[in-house]
Amino acid sequence: MSKRVLIVDDAAFMRMMIKDILSKNGFEVVGEAPDGAQAVEKYKELTPDLVTMDITMPEMDGIAALKEIKQINSDAKVIMCSAMGQQAMVIDAIQAGAKDFIVKPFQADRVIEAIQKVLD
Ligand SMILES: [Mg+2]
Repeated sequence: MSKRVLIVDDAAFMRMMIKDILSKNGFEVVGEAPDGAQAVEKYKELTPDLVTMDITMPEMDGIAALKEIKQINSDAKVIMCSAMGQQAMVIDAIQAGAKDFIVKPFQADRVIEAIQKVLD
């Protein structure tokens, strides 16, 4: 059965790009959210196998959303999507329970590699 993924990013083109990479590699994208608050709601509703989480977003950022998701399910698998220069936030995210991170601009093989490693 294909793994179910929730994609979180405030940029629609980023969500589309990640969705495209995942769909072509046998994953099922079950939902998308444009900010952290909606990400937490969608996580509860959909209970995905994995979340890709942008860091910089309006309403609630990716690190705050990660922390809430980990409170809902301490085993939640969340991969952070960071931009260049966000190393400090990536460290915060890993300490808060993120499983890995991928850096923008995304390379499809790196995205798939990170996701497969986390799901194994
Ligand atoms: Mg963003």
